[in-house]
Amino acid sequence: MASPDTTTTATATSLLNLNELVSNPVFAGGFGLASLGAVLAFARKGVVSAGGLLRRRMLVNVEISRQDPAYPWVLAWLSEPRQQTSFLAKKLTRINKLSVTTTTSSTPNGPTHASFFLQPGYGRHIVHYKGAYIAVNREKQSTAKLNTGEPHETLELTTLYSHRHIFEHVFTEARQLALQAHEGKTVVYSVRNFDWVPLGQPRIKRPLHSVVLDKGVKEGIVADVRDFLNRRSWYADRGIPYRRGYLLYGPPGSGKSSFIQALAGELDYGVAMVNLSEVGVTDDKLAFLLTKLPERTILLLEDADSAFVNRRRRDEDGYAGGTVTFSGLLNALDGLSAGEERIAFLTTNHIERLDPALIRPGRVDLMLRIGEASRYQAGQMWDRFYGDVDTQGVNRERFLKRLDELGLFSSSSSSSTSLSQSGEGESGTDVAGGGGEKPIGPRTSTAAIQGLFLFNKNDIEGAIAMAEHLIPKKIEA
Ligand code: ADP
Repeated sequence: MASPDTTTTATATSLLNLNELVSNPVFAGGFGLASLGAVLAFARKGVVSAGGLLRRRMLVNVEISRQDPAYPWVLAWLSEPRQQTSFLAKKLTRINKLSVTTTTSSTPNGPTHASFFLQPGYGRHIVHYKGAYIAVNREKQSTAKLNTGEPHETLELTTLYSHRHIFEHVFTEARQLALQAHEGKTVVYSVRNFDWVPLGQPRIKRPLHSVVLDKGVKEGIVADVRDFLNRRSWYADRGIPYRRGYLLYGPPGSGKSSFIQALAGELDYGVAMVNLSEVGVTDDKLAFLLTKLPERTILLLEDADSAFVNRRRRDEDGYAGGTVTFSGLLNALDGLSAGEERIAFLTTNHIERLDPALIRPGRVDLMLRIGEASRYQAGQMWDRFYGDVDTQGVNRERFLKRLDELGLFSSSSSSSTSLSQSGEGESGTDVAGGGGEKPIGPRTSTAAIQGLFLFNKNDIEGAIAMAEHLIPKKIEA
């Protein structure tokens, strides 16, 4: 056991050692640095939490996810050039990091056209708008969308709390800009992965008069769609899902797609287009896409017959080849969103392949044959191309007589378009009625007539002389 003397000695020794240590310059330096570090860390923590508090108290931010319709509008708004008057604003708001979005479009015979759209890139930027500074942070998140694997993306706008009302102006202006950019244009959406993406730049609206269908047909469909759009409460009162389906069928090149695009333009709608014959568009994908259709769009399901071909293939092989099946199509049509209005158009070149189960109110309410060119259509198209020169219509009659001689309008040519309506027919119009049986003899398409006139733009005699080219060529097996 140690005596008290020993303890005192030991304490004295350790004090001596401590004194020695403190007076040791190496130790004192290290200790000093460590304390300084601790103080700095403490101060830093203080600044960070004070900063956090300040941020919470004085700043306000808005986060916009890529999935939100406002995302592209705000991004486009940020790209707008803004005149800055003050030196500080000029320095702070210079965007050094840009990203580019390229859209390409190609005409059937022409070259591919590319448009480049510059936007603020990922990272932080500062915008000066109506006297307020807005910090922008465009970020790719580490999480990814389950269905596509694409990373989530967000835009965060931050401003002083006292300037919070600026956001209202930002969103209103961004929305107006987006509307202006689409004014007089039709946005066509197509499918990319599990998303709807604009197909190239918005297209200039196709005027309805540029699509020549049989007498009264266009007017009839437009009236039917307008009637539908005015009947929201009619549907709600009766508890009927607010949707209407149209099926346009007939040979290729008769103007089905052109008409749907022109109709969308007339109604100021976009077109959301899916080609059902495309590999990769499966039942699940179609069902998912229809839950998130862009607002104010006409749904266009092209090549509807492929769903029936796929059914046969699946029945035979047990595999539909990664495409939409018949039941997938029916489910998609039946499941079209109940609350919102929905206009769906289906097109096919092979009506004989469709199943009658499709023609049911809510799925397909109106069926319309857009057939080969009729005499009426050929005359109308002539007037559209040569009307300003052939004012008396003398040459039009010569052209039509020539087509008569070639037998292009033989039999049932009075109506190449027919329309039938499914269900009780409480709403909608019987557009053309009658006709529609398969014509006999050679027939020609409106696309072919357009081609002939385009080739002879300024040459009426050439158009008449080349009329026999309208007779479809037999394809040798
Ligand atoms: P479909 O969808 O029936 O196959 P499209 O609408 O794609 O036919 O027409 C192909 C081309 O022919 C387009 O350039 C279109 O302008 C022209 N065309 C075809 N039919 C008509 C028509 N009835 N009126 C005006 N243009 C037409």
